[in-house]
Amino acid sequence: MNENKPAIKSLGDMPTSELKKYGHQFVDWIAAYLDEIENYPVLPNIKPGEIKNILPENPPEKGESFESIIADVNDKILPGITHWNHPDFMAYFNSTSSGPGILAELLSAGLNVNAMAWHTCPSATELEEKMINWYKKIFNLPQNFWGIIYDTASTSSMHAIAAAREQLSHLKIREKGMIGRSELPRLRIYSSEQAHFSIDKSVITLGFGLESIRKIPVDEKFRMIPGKLKEAIKEDKQNGYLPCCVVATVGTTSTTSVDNIDEIGTICSEENIWLHVDAAYAGTAAILPEMQWIFKGIEKSDSLVINPHKWMFTPIDLSLFLTKKPDVLKRAFSLSAEYLAGENEDATDFMDYGIQLGRRFRSLKSWFIMRYFGVEGLQNRIREHIRLAKEFAEWIDENPKFERMAPTPFSVVCFRAHPQNITDEDELNELNQKLLDNINSTGKLFLSHTKLNNKFVIRIAISGIRTFEQNVNDARNLIEQKLNELLD
Ligand SMILES: *Cc1c(COP(=O)(O)O)cnc(C)c1O
Repeated sequence: MNENKPAIKSLGDMPTSELKKYGHQFVDWIAAYLDEIENYPVLPNIKPGEIKNILPENPPEKGESFESIIADVNDKILPGITHWNHPDFMAYFNSTSSGPGILAELLSAGLNVNAMAWHTCPSATELEEKMINWYKKIFNLPQNFWGIIYDTASTSSMHAIAAAREQLSHLKIREKGMIGRSELPRLRIYSSEQAHFSIDKSVITLGFGLESIRKIPVDEKFRMIPGKLKEAIKEDKQNGYLPCCVVATVGTTSTTSVDNIDEIGTICSEENIWLHVDAAYAGTAAILPEMQWIFKGIEKSDSLVINPHKWMFTPIDLSLFLTKKPDVLKRAFSLSAEYLAGENEDATDFMDYGIQLGRRFRSLKSWFIMRYFGVEGLQNRIREHIRLAKEFAEWIDENPKFERMAPTPFSVVCFRAHPQNITDEDELNELNQKLLDNINSTGKLFLSHTKLNNKFVIRIAISGIRTFEQNVNDARNLIEQKLNELLD
């Protein structure tokens, strides 16, 4: 075959000779990008529409060379990239990819299997099952939990709440639905005031409606108050509601507070209510023996979600969902289609446990990452992030111009500027909003914010695989410098 022939052919795929050539170039491109990532502003300085406007209105009639595609990645796409892999990306819950994760994604696309049923790719199903067992071991979770990998925590929690509803099998919601049934009691879902809005989205999606969520107050450390949950359940039952599911959070989105699973679990067991635990970000910390307290009482829960794509250096997306009651989950979602019927009774068909039929080979990422870094390598990185966050928190505590706004159990610190001469809350909110804007507009650091008791609070999340002590020290200096500029 002529190596110089262009890719433009009327039939068939890109020649593998080209795949090789550009594949090597592209891996080099990614390596160079990661080497030089600190030269990019972590946040792009562009306005809405700018990227769309430089892209052509129509797809090309004839194929184009790969060179021109790569050139456009450089010129048109990179300027609009928010660099999540950047060491100074410390906003939200950071999510960084790693070399082994990137390579696993490449292999996954190369193989392009569909992990919907065992027989549609035995390796994908069985590697997924094995990886779930590995995760259970490294996080020290009960062996009787069954697992599946979904795309995101939002999807995982939606499946948890669907299973909780299916557990109330006498309501026959799978067959009859919830619409137009006056005999159906109103169902209730409980979460704390600090729970992630994916729970609200789940109840919208599943047809419970937002009014079915009852938000339980939190204590001064932003943890659900179990006594208030108990009272709410009692009151609801007296008023004809049927409690369906309690969602507890380990590592809430604003402050990373940890609900008391043990106490909440006891209430749920007594009341026979499904307990779902959302540990999307913080669950990964359980890889450290000294952090396993976060899951005390987890054996009382019915389901649990942890996102390796948040703090375990796994490219988006990969969400681990575990449940003690896979039979209930299966009852909620399985249907049989003749053209897909498998012959193997002993094999798992993951399509029976969720709304997706087609499923990506995500477990390759888990396998590559756990093997390449080893449990110890992962522990070292996560332990270091927690240490850096504690150091940052101490710096805030010792600095009279700043104030810490929540405990720091993991690698996120909530703080605000609070110079001693300013006492007005509105003024403080305005100052902190400006401070955050001024920090982020430098392109040198990206932080995010939250509101706690109506106070504007800045969050720093130290969980990137390329984030080291020097980055955190630079962040401190920049934060202090930007505050001084505002106070001058
Ligand atoms: C990030 C997060 C979610 C949502 O995760 P996705 O995977 O983006 O859907 C849900 N709950 C908590 C506690 C989170 O931190």
